[in-house]
Amino acid sequence: MQTYTITLIRGDGIGPEIAESVVEVFAAAEVPIRWEEAEAGLACLERHGTPIPEATLESIRRNRVALKGPTTTPIGGGHRSINVAIRKAFELFANVRPARSIPGVQTRYNDIDLILVRENIEDTYAGVEYWQTPDVAESLRLISRPGSAAVIRYAFDLARRLGRRKVTCVHKANIQKLSDGLFLECFRAIAAEYPDIESDDILVDNACMQLVLRPERFDVLVLPNMFGDIVSDLCAGLIGGLGVAPGGNIGNGYAVFEAVHGSAPDIAGKGIANPTAFLLSAVQMLRHLGLHADAERIESALRYTLVSGIKTRDLGGNANTREFTKAIISNLPPRSQVQAQNAPVQEPYRTPMLPPRSTDAEGWQTVGVDLFFHALAPPTDLPTQIGAARLQAISNRGIALDSHEVGDRYLLSWFRARYVSETPLNEAEVGAILETLAPRLHWTTIQRLYRTQEGMNLFSPIQTD
Ligand code: NAD
Repeated sequence: MQTYTITLIRGDGIGPEIAESVVEVFAAAEVPIRWEEAEAGLACLERHGTPIPEATLESIRRNRVALKGPTTTPIGGGHRSINVAIRKAFELFANVRPARSIPGVQTRYNDIDLILVRENIEDTYAGVEYWQTPDVAESLRLISRPGSAAVIRYAFDLARRLGRRKVTCVHKANIQKLSDGLFLECFRAIAAEYPDIESDDILVDNACMQLVLRPERFDVLVLPNMFGDIVSDLCAGLIGGLGVAPGGNIGNGYAVFEAVHGSAPDIAGKGIANPTAFLLSAVQMLRHLGLHADAERIESALRYTLVSGIKTRDLGGNANTREFTKAIISNLPPRSQVQAQNAPVQEPYRTPMLPPRSTDAEGWQTVGVDLFFHALAPPTDLPTQIGAARLQAISNRGIALDSHEVGDRYLLSWFRARYVSETPLNEAEVGAILETLAPRLHWTTIQRLYRTQEGMNLFSPIQTD
């Protein structure tokens, strides 16, 4: 039988206690896994001067799959965030959070069975932010075609591999027409390649309401990063909170699994931590490896244990971590009772068929410039025409200034002037706009405006009411 070598990071706080629980359950279940221990976290920082040593990254690089316990985020500047360092090193573009009701864990629902797939790198988490004026901070929301395609394709591949019926795209394309519009466009194109799986889409606000009212309407959900961050915790709430919520981060050939909760320093070392979320993360890892029979066996032992009333204190029981772990082991069903089959050894998941990077914006024509500037009041002396470009509007908070209503509106100290032409502008004409405006305005940002040859504007219109 093939044995998988997996990097195990026990982590900080309750990490070593819940990791020991997983190691014992896996050993008792004779799961074909050999652990390769590696260090990360606050204790590691104190011992080795770095919270994530190169040897740990090398171990993940070699084994391609890791199970990571929670780590305490070192406070104070200068230290790399461990999770961000791992996510970046292995381009872990999909955060996968299953939410399945656990019998014996009291919640408002008893039939939740969802998988949420969250884009993990882009959106506002690209972390591109600026102070524009002392009153205005700006955050760039970056949605790309390759980034969206990677996570959406993974969601469909996962649905197919796990025999799920439907993938739902959650977005806000009615408002973020270009960025979420792109995410939705990628979703529709990729959905067409998976005719065996149903697909639909829903606005994120409605999705939150429906998840609470009719969660059975959903199966697999795929979301941009920020919505995914929020909705995944909503889904964790549906099944009983972070203490039972597992997760995995999937990248190009690499995967790192970890519970959603942190290192719980308040209960560390007391032997009372609940290993459920970490064990379920390890079960999710087994499914990722195709070890479906082992996954089902351990999950059913865990569920049986909870139904029989053996629970840790956070779930209202009185078992400690060791007693709970022993109970799970004693409830492991015989292999013959498990219906799922282990799949043959498979290649690590890789991002297939990413769209090629476009080297030039073919057919895109520059037709204008948006200039953002810091001012206490809107200027009254801007030229109405610079070459072929006309001053279309000055706007504040996205809305055009209208001389009739300016007196009633609260204006921020950050304005935008839009100069736009009916016909394409050459670089000299664009330069002339900037040269004319730059000495007159305390500009903060310059944005080029494109239009396609077919006449479609590749920028949002200025709102007029
Ligand atoms: P936390 O999740 O560690 O704890 C929140 C509360 O939940 C605490 O009362 C804790 O006792 C309880 N709790 C959490 N997991 C539990 C478990 N398995 N069993 C029983 N009770 C449990 O969140 P926090 O206190 O905000 O963060 C503590 C540290 O963990 C911080 O340094 C934070 O940065 C870090 N953290 C790490 C990760 C990670 O490594 N993935 C994730 C979140 C937080």
